[in-house]
Amino acid sequence: METIKKGVFLKMPVITNVWSKVVEDNGRFFSTAVVESIAEFGFKVNKQENGIVLEGNARLNIPEGIVIVKDGLLQEISLSQLAPEVVLIELKLEHPADFRVEVLPGIPVRTVISAGRGFLKELFADKKIVIDPGHGGTDHGGRGPVNLLEKNVVVPIALSLEGLFRQAGAKTTLTRRHDGNITLRQRIYPAKKEKADLFLSIHTRFCKDCNSGGSVVLYNPFSGQSNILAWWILAELSQVLKITARGIGEGSELKMLGEIPAVSIEVVTISNWVEEGLLRSPTIHRKAAQGIFNGVKNYLFFGKGEYR
Ligand SMILES: [Zn+2]
Repeated sequence: METIKKGVFLKMPVITNVWSKVVEDNGRFFSTAVVESIAEFGFKVNKQENGIVLEGNARLNIPEGIVIVKDGLLQEISLSQLAPEVVLIELKLEHPADFRVEVLPGIPVRTVISAGRGFLKELFADKKIVIDPGHGGTDHGGRGPVNLLEKNVVVPIALSLEGLFRQAGAKTTLTRRHDGNITLRQRIYPAKKEKADLFLSIHTRFCKDCNSGGSVVLYNPFSGQSNILAWWILAELSQVLKITARGIGEGSELKMLGEIPAVSIEVVTISNWVEEGLLRSPTIHRKAAQGIFNGVKNYLFFGKGEYR
């Protein structure tokens, strides 16, 4: 499949920026790569096995290289200057997707490559996911060296994660949205009642007598697939946050969930002053949620298949 756009261009087409965003259009979601340029440029687009390649008659005014996206569909965008006025923009996709290209006039001109996220909708359709922000109320959880409290940082991560799951078409329940005491039974009950497909408890790691950082994911030993879920989340989370993946382990409290795949995600180490600093950033909350989402997505796509 090939799309060709030709034109006569007065100004030298120079690409000044490339960025990515997930957008909604009439209830459908798309991963987009937006190429900004000072003038419209001619291009052709090819679909390849694991991505989309746009070859444009333009010059890059930004460094060649790879822009990591990892939004669950679009993995990365790579930019290269093949010849003085030939640019190659490659979108690497994790799953098959239909796509379209639009040119939006303006200053700058935006050439937008959109890849449909319908694949995720199929993967998450009818999935019931319980998200449990740890601690709350008088139970502060871990306390960082500069007094950040675990009970407070896990809520924005959980809310961001809920947004991603809902966008993908899953049904979500949060055990708490605000600060307050809840019992262990209140955490477990919604998952049992709704026969949830997944239970994800959000925590931070705390190390009393050490300076180490990194993330850990604990799993429900009574559910055969929970350890695979834990590995996927740990791998994606540590990659997105660029922190140490310390490993996975059994979480004894998760046994109460019986056969429901359940994990307790210690996102970063709040007792480490660098990682406590990370937890103050809303960008990091969103990235952590994206890492967890990507791990769950991979578990649903690959994990169970391998295990069965
Ligand atoms: Zn905790």
